[in-house]
Amino acid sequence: MNYLTLEDMELDGKRVLLRADYNVTYSDGKITDDKRIRETLPTIKYLLGKKCKIILMSHFNRPQDDLKKGKSMEEVRKKNTLKPVAARLSELLGKAVVFVDSCNPSSVPNAQVVLLENTRLCKQEEKNDEAYAKNLASLADVYVNDAFGCSHRAHASVHAVTKFLPSCAGFLMDKEIKELSSLFSPKKPFIAIIGGAKADKIGVIKSLLPKVDSIIIGGVLANTFLKSRGLDIKGSKFDEESLEFAKEYCNHEKIMLPEDFIVADRFAEDAESREAGLKDIPDGWRILDIDGKTIRKYKAKLMKAKTVLWAGPLGVFEFDKFATGTREVAEFLAESHAHTIVGGGDSSAAVDKFGLTEKMSHVSTGGGASLEFIEKQGKLPGIIALEESYHSHRQEGVSEILL
Ligand code: AMP
Repeated sequence: MNYLTLEDMELDGKRVLLRADYNVTYSDGKITDDKRIRETLPTIKYLLGKKCKIILMSHFNRPQDDLKKGKSMEEVRKKNTLKPVAARLSELLGKAVVFVDSCNPSSVPNAQVVLLENTRLCKQEEKNDEAYAKNLASLADVYVNDAFGCSHRAHASVHAVTKFLPSCAGFLMDKEIKELSSLFSPKKPFIAIIGGAKADKIGVIKSLLPKVDSIIIGGVLANTFLKSRGLDIKGSKFDEESLEFAKEYCNHEKIMLPEDFIVADRFAEDAESREAGLKDIPDGWRILDIDGKTIRKYKAKLMKAKTVLWAGPLGVFEFDKFATGTREVAEFLAESHAHTIVGGGDSSAAVDKFGLTEKMSHVSTGGGASLEFIEKQGKLPGIIALEESYHSHRQEGVSEILL
């Protein structure tokens, strides 16, 4: 892919508009996971080293949905403000981060690091509005996109803005693109593990099938596949939306399904549970994890892999009682010599919970963006915008850029 990176740019003393993904997890007025903030530190520190003035921006939650539900603007602003992120970033940098209480300011204070208010509080953001993007661009000399997690959205602060400034990828964005692109020409055998609950895995399975040697299935997705074969999964959760797709692919030679399970009488941490094959699930009980025979079968397959992609947990890993399948596979991959990319769905949260993030080759920050990246061969709006900016500035011969 052709786009510019930080090291291609002439940045000394420049004003940099930096798009980050600060859509952090937040509850009871506190940031509960600051990983997304920490991950932007390499880019911010590099820019500080170049004596840049950094104007940060990000979205947070979905304020426009809150407004559609009839909440007042005041309530929506209060719930969706990025102000706590400015405070946390300031602690992490050991430097003042000035918060600007507007997502569309005409000027910003003369400070080295500023953070604008949540871009999605401006309705023009999600419309990819050019006038809005142009105003944001007027605050800076250069645009840097380090928000890989938003690269699947054609929104003004990731897409339209690149029309108005020389643009490049930040370190996080560049690392994500390089790692995930390696899956397009993987070392074989290439095994994918796809689990979780959301239907967003279907497109990924379709695009992976020609490239992978096998796809190991778990989670709610496995239940959907088993049901599509006409098997009785009793009270287990399945995904109606994926059922037709599952019917078409459930007998595909590359798809591996679980054979034994941990089942529970209800969806709860302290539910009564037992081991079961499909035929002995009690009425009304549900599958919440894979069991020993399946775990062994999956590990035997993974043993030969040279490349592994993992998207979505294999069971309800949030409850310790039903985390065994996900944990055992995570531990196995942590020790494996295969190039292991964890990306999409909640598998990255699971790997984090087991303290194994550092042992994987790459744990993507992208969630839905990582899955769409794989499905669309990297052709995501935010990345296309960087590529187009590269080509247009190349033609124009913009002097600030070192090509
Ligand atoms: P996703 O975001 O699509 O990766 O889905 C992750 C969620 O799937 C996690 O919260 C898991 O608890 C949930 N999950 C995985 N397996 C099951 C299952 N057998 N039954 C219900 N939920 C599951």
